[in-house]
Amino acid sequence: MSKNSISRRNALKYIGLSVAATSALHANWGEAPKKSATNKKILIVGGGSSAIIILSTLLKSMQNPDITIIAPNEVHLYQPGQLYVATGVFDKDEITKDNADYIPKSVHWIKEKVEKFLPEQNAVITDNAKKVSYDYLIVATGTQYRFNYIEGLTQDDIGTNNLASVYINDTDKGTADGGPLTWKWLNEIKEASKERKQTVLFVKASGMLKCGATAQKIMYMSADYLKKSGFGANYIYSTTSSRLFGSKIVSGALEKAQTKYDTIKNLYKHNIIAIDVKNKIATYEHKYQIKEGWDPDFKEWESIEDKRDIIKVKYDFLHLVPPMSAPDALVNSTLCKKEGMFKDWLDVDEETLQHTQYENIFGIGDVCGTPLGKTIPSAQHQAKIVLKNLQSVISKKELQAKFDGHSVCPIKVGFGEVVMVEFNYAGLNPSISYLDASKPSWLWWIYDVYAAKPLYWNAILPARI
Ligand SMILES: Cc1cc2nc3c(=O)[nH]c(=O)nc-3n(C[C@H](O)[C@H](O)[C@H](O)COP(=O)(O)OP(=O)(O)OC[C@H]3O[C@@H](n4cnc5c(N)ncnc54)[C@H](O)[C@@H]3O)c2cc1C
Repeated sequence: MSKNSISRRNALKYIGLSVAATSALHANWGEAPKKSATNKKILIVGGGSSAIIILSTLLKSMQNPDITIIAPNEVHLYQPGQLYVATGVFDKDEITKDNADYIPKSVHWIKEKVEKFLPEQNAVITDNAKKVSYDYLIVATGTQYRFNYIEGLTQDDIGTNNLASVYINDTDKGTADGGPLTWKWLNEIKEASKERKQTVLFVKASGMLKCGATAQKIMYMSADYLKKSGFGANYIYSTTSSRLFGSKIVSGALEKAQTKYDTIKNLYKHNIIAIDVKNKIATYEHKYQIKEGWDPDFKEWESIEDKRDIIKVKYDFLHLVPPMSAPDALVNSTLCKKEGMFKDWLDVDEETLQHTQYENIFGIGDVCGTPLGKTIPSAQHQAKIVLKNLQSVISKKELQAKFDGHSVCPIKVGFGEVVMVEFNYAGLNPSISYLDASKPSWLWWIYDVYAAKPLYWNAILPARI
């Protein structure tokens, strides 16, 4: 990190804290809930954001609960910080803490991984061959990256041959190489730009992705970094979607932001299917329809033809947000969906978060096969839903609590500018009046850089808000 950014950080610290305070005011502190009692065995699998938030929530809401957590990671990673490491704003040591700070001694912590889920026996088997039984199971294992779904690519290629991915991390170990390697990659583009203008691809893979807008965040921050260094590039952004963001308002804001940078070309409905690592060629599948002859009486097209083109693009540098799924142990169990758009994700009801086949199993966080819910604010909201519905199942009552898909996405469109988007299954859902998703704001940059991380460590993980 540069000295400038440190001094700027200090100068803005107090403003950041005041924004944090404002944010906390808007959070639903509510009345202290009455503690419910149960002697049932609750097992949480996972040790990331969702696992720790639900653990803290249960501990605050239940009298002496019997909780076991199976999580391999002694180190807790603040993953949103990886983007700021990749762009020189944070140092890599700033985004980790000890998980022991959040797992009290009263909780039985097994520092292993679940290898097999045996829902018919209400048990799991760890990678150390330990059988652990439960009455109620909460699955919070996050995602597994699937670089090898793209022909010609393995995870080991990232960091070589001008390939980067800010996503690279090992949540079992609490390490995140994606930040430093992408920062190095960005500076290599800068060096290469001194010779000639580079072609830089920013690829968003298909399927469900955690914080999918990161594919654009890293593009805008890279373009801004190069612009500030006096360079431009031919940027190409590819997505399987038909616009930049689900909401048209947000898409409009992002399209406008793109005009600030040297030629960003958007390839919509383009799915990366292969990368020729050595020759630097990306292959996309472009699916689209040709519609002809609109019939105003029947209000339909006379013919719709499905088209599929294969497009090859030669590049100098490529950043990839990889395909993802639930981790292997789940994919190989009966707990994941086996087909459809949520194939290989935990099969839970998108509102109650209860497993669709096993009433004593709930999901939380990135692992869930739900249309939205792969951000930290989602996990925060889901924890309240899982708590209430778990209490209902324990007391044999009908499930009442419903997750509405709540998610928040701070889209960095450059240094000092964030479009803050709050949304749910129904669309944009700003909870506070000054949250205008149609334009970027420096205030949200200050919040995101200076306040979001302390808020995460001190209020979100311990379930204080
Ligand atoms: C680059 C990047 C940028 C992001 N930006 C943002 C952002 O700006 N805002 C935002 O809100 N979110 C952002 N996110 C997403 C956010 O970090 C995740 O939504 C959040 O961490 C989800 O938490 P989780 O607990 O579900 O998964 P994780 O935090 O990934 O934790 C999964 C845990 O499960 C453990 N585990 C896995 N398999 C097993 C097993 N078989 N047995 C036992 N344990 C297991 C892992 O070791 C890990 O501890 C970003 C993520 C990345 C990578």
